[in-house]
Amino acid sequence: MIIGLDDTDSVNEMCTTYIGTLIVEAIREIDRNLIKEPPKLIRLNPNNPYKTRGNGAVSIIVVDSSKETLEKIKSVSFDIIQRYSESGHNTNPAIVFLDEDAIDSELELFAKRALHEILSIEEALTLLEKIGADYRYIGNGRGLIGALASAALKIQDFSYELIVYRDHNKKGEKIVSESGAMEIERRYSPKIFSSYDFYNHRMVISPHSDCPILYGLRGESPELLFEASKLLKSEPPLKRNLFVTNQGTDMHLEEKRIEEILPYSSVIVEGTVSKGPYTISGGHVFFEIYNGDKVLCAAYEPTKAFRNVVRTLCKGDKIVAYGGALETEHGLTINLEKIELKETSDLYKKEKPICPVCNNKMKSIGKDKGYRCKKCHTKNKEASKIIIDRDVKLGLYEAPMCARRHLSKPLLRYGREKTFEEERFKFDYSMFNIQFEGI
Ligand code: ATP
Repeated sequence: MIIGLDDTDSVNEMCTTYIGTLIVEAIREIDRNLIKEPPKLIRLNPNNPYKTRGNGAVSIIVVDSSKETLEKIKSVSFDIIQRYSESGHNTNPAIVFLDEDAIDSELELFAKRALHEILSIEEALTLLEKIGADYRYIGNGRGLIGALASAALKIQDFSYELIVYRDHNKKGEKIVSESGAMEIERRYSPKIFSSYDFYNHRMVISPHSDCPILYGLRGESPELLFEASKLLKSEPPLKRNLFVTNQGTDMHLEEKRIEEILPYSSVIVEGTVSKGPYTISGGHVFFEIYNGDKVLCAAYEPTKAFRNVVRTLCKGDKIVAYGGALETEHGLTINLEKIELKETSDLYKKEKPICPVCNNKMKSIGKDKGYRCKKCHTKNKEASKIIIDRDVKLGLYEAPMCARRHLSKPLLRYGREKTFEEERFKFDYSMFNIQFEGI
């Protein structure tokens, strides 16, 4: 059986991964061997307007068991959702229980679309009814979308996140050593990624909200994450959990032509710079690309020095834009996560021409009248066009770590892709201790 859950948190409190962890613990209390692989933290459409933070949902695979045990698991899990979920008009917790065999191509497609489109509650309900799945929800049922998608999604490339929690009742400043995060970045990058942004002096492992996450370390192997976590001093942690995730995989991006781009999708799109770049108030840098149709691209202020790369673009440059498309006050705009500069156009400046007879610089003889040599009076109508050195390198550029989306694949991860089915049972999760006893 696969359990999927989502939408248990509000902007400030709780966290679906924490509630998933409580559910794992409750199921292990029934029988420790019921869960053999780490739960999944699945990031869905990052442009979803209903999301609280990172549009994350959690799924847990439970091994085949008696009907009685499965019923007990369902009831215990929903009790936890009821007891610990946040309540509020924007929090609509849900949990689904799927038979693995019930995941057909239609359901797989629904799950895939949940990364690229905005889906309706009705569609999730129709699918759940069609496959005869058990599900429960509080509120309007929106949580069913993420719960169902996280349970049904097939992943290929993946990464791990080791999340360490404090007591969910504890609020206020989180104490996590910044120097430890720096050390992890220095020693373990790129096998552990997105820990400390040295360019912007920001630790990116500890969320600022009042959710119970103290910190999360993202990387390629559980063993390395455990080893690195020993370098981190923090206030006393309560629990920890290891998740398999689609973070850092670019799973949200799809190659499109400009005319195919829909709002809320995330795309990889090729085009030629047709306007810009220009900076608007707030420090956001925009430019336009053309390839049969036009679309705006934006490097927003939080992407910091990435904007300087965008500012070097010129009309005629051939680029590939990577990012999420949203309808904004400026029109459909791609919020850039990465950009590839494929070909630069020649950029000229005009200068007074050199006299072909006596090699002197000619003088202007008035607006639009051309140039004349002072010495021999040779005339030239046109100014000289001098190619300016662009001083830019072709290649891929990315938004800085502090502005990076969970799903975005860091450039340093290129070539490190893994296959989930090959690695699936390499880590023995049944031996993993959630309750913190010091790592
Ligand atoms: P956190 O990352 O802290 O867990 P969150 O950002 O995941 O929070 P949620 O509180 O889970 O935000 O809210 C997201 C809501 O949007 C959920 O109800 C989820 O079911 C729904 N949802 C997720 N993906 C889509 C989608 N593609 N289309 C429509 N709704 C979606």
